[in-house]
Amino acid sequence: MSNCLFCRIIAGEIPSTKVYEDDTVLAFRDIAPQAPTHILVIPKAHISGVSAITGENSHIVAHIFEVIPQIAAAEGLSQGFRVVSNCGDHAGQTVHHLHFHILGGQQLSLQMA
Ligand code: AMP
Repeated sequence: MSNCLFCRIIAGEIPSTKVYEDDTVLAFRDIAPQAPTHILVIPKAHISGVSAITGENSHIVAHIFEVIPQIAAAEGLSQGFRVVSNCGDHAGQTVHHLHFHILGGQQLSLQMA
């Protein structure tokens, strides 16, 4: 989708600090980190968010969750990390392209909202 920020990052039209890439997935550092390590993991296919995950595309999500622990290990997050996906307005989703935040590098708050 030409007007999607993350599709433009995938296309190389907007720069990113890439930490992982394969045929299906791209991971890059969040531009406004909320923790010492803050990485976004996104599918290369445009999926608008968690609500748009279906039986047709769930294999992509499964692959993302195979990649996430590899990224966490490469980043040295052996003490633990958090995976977050905001879905919809009440959750504060600002980019409507499915993405999973990897947060770590310090003791994280347990605050839920
Ligand atoms: P969300 O609010 O869950 O939709 O997350 C969107 C995330 O994208 C936020 O954490 C932003 O800081 C991040 N973000 C926005 N633009 C960029 C960009 N150009 N490069 C990297 N991260 C970005």
